[in-house]
Amino acid sequence: MACLRVRAMLRWLGMIEDFLFPEPLYCPLCGEQPLDFLECCGKCLAQLGIDWKLRPVGSRLTGSLFVYRDYGREVVQQLKFHGGYRTAVAVGALLGRALRETPEFAEVELLVPVPLHPARERRRGFNQAEALAHGIRSQWPRPLFHGLVRVRDTPAQSGLSLEERRSNVRRAFAVVTDVALAGKRCLVVDDVMTSGSTFEGVAGVLESLGAVCLGVSAARAVLEKNPSQC
Ligand SMILES: [Zn+2]
Repeated sequence: MACLRVRAMLRWLGMIEDFLFPEPLYCPLCGEQPLDFLECCGKCLAQLGIDWKLRPVGSRLTGSLFVYRDYGREVVQQLKFHGGYRTAVAVGALLGRALRETPEFAEVELLVPVPLHPARERRRGFNQAEALAHGIRSQWPRPLFHGLVRVRDTPAQSGLSLEERRSNVRRAFAVVTDVALAGKRCLVVDDVMTSGSTFEGVAGVLESLGAVCLGVSAARAVLEKNPSQC
């Protein structure tokens, strides 16, 4: 009983401390500037060069928020390799704001983050595409689909040619749930889209079960040897 009273008192003291000395809310991208009304500071927003673009990949529509270069590349590296969960959620929220203003995506019913292989996710601590999807949902509420898994731990895509990327992702994904996908409009979420081969691999699996797929990524990149393929 005494123990419970001490715990309650500590909780109250913590709340009083939070009230008197609130944690400053800093931009999760740079960790330096205070936040205003968006999910990142104005300086980071300007450096990212937000430029929401729609483009078809094959017959499917995709959207992306900025170009994978300079600061945009740094931010993606941060959310991917440096434990940047909060960065991913913040960028996802910016994506959500863009999506909710875009009528072409209005009928999306499910968000499908591109899964990591479980071994890779354990090493990284989280799936950056799923963190992006959580950010998207904060601005544009849609349910998350958890039934897609990566059954092969494919090597990283960077540095591969278009043909190598396609063969890399073939048969890498599977749906492991009996949730009906027939007729569902799914939005495949990823961090970077280059040739779109990962997106096409995921979309192929979902569409074989009757879904209709669109795609979204934080960044868009150009294949170095094959710029015309982007
Ligand atoms: Zn910032």
